Amino acid sequence: MNKFERAELEHVLDKAFAFHGKPCGGTVIGVRMAMLGLKLIGITDPKGAQRKDVMAVAENDRCSVDAIQHVTGCRVSARALKLKDYGKVAATFVNLKTGKAVRIVCPEETREIVEKYKPEEGEKKERTIAGYKNIPLNELFYAQEVKVEFDENDFPGHAKVRLKCDQCGEWVSDHREHEVDGKLLCIHCAEGGYYDVVKDRIALPA
Ligand SMILES: [Zn+2]
Ligand SMILES: [Zn+2]
Repeated sequence: MNKFERAELEHVLDKAFAFHGKPCGGTVIGVRMAMLGLKLIGITDPKGAQRKDVMAVAENDRCSVDAIQHVTGCRVSARALKLKDYGKVAATFVNLKTGKAVRIVCPEETREIVEKYKPEEGEKKERTIAGYKNIPLNELFYAQEVKVEFDENDFPGHAKVRLKCDQCGEWVSDHREHEVDGKLLCIHCAEGGYYDVVKDRIALPA
């Protein structure tokens, strides 16, 4: 990393830490991962002229997600940032114009390798942050060129389809329903879900 790249990293990190709410090693990893990813897929202006050309998939739901969102401008709410919680420190960056996609992984070995890039002195957290700034990209990550095919119902933009669940009566967008024995069911009714209804239609303030 030359001194201009270092200055750019520091500049982006300052804002990413603010967005994340605190400085941390995970944010450094996420920022460096996203900056590298954009570079490898040929995106130089992700929040301007190329804002509709990029999508990202994050493989965990921790600190690096905020960093990826900050650097790429891809947001979950805009459907441009997907969360696939594989519990891995990895993410994929896709150039929708060219189809070029790169998956970047921070492997387990990095935890050891980074030790030699940490300063001797200082608090643990400061040393960790410095270590992840200093470690060369090719020791921090490995990368794969990949092919990503998003489902047509996963792209940014308005929902094209909305259907009513035959069991609970709630509406489902983007073909997230399942067909079971000829009925259209929402995911909760089809598979069970993260909640059980204890009491329905509880009283609400006006
Ligand atoms: Zn964090
Ligand atoms: Zn349902």
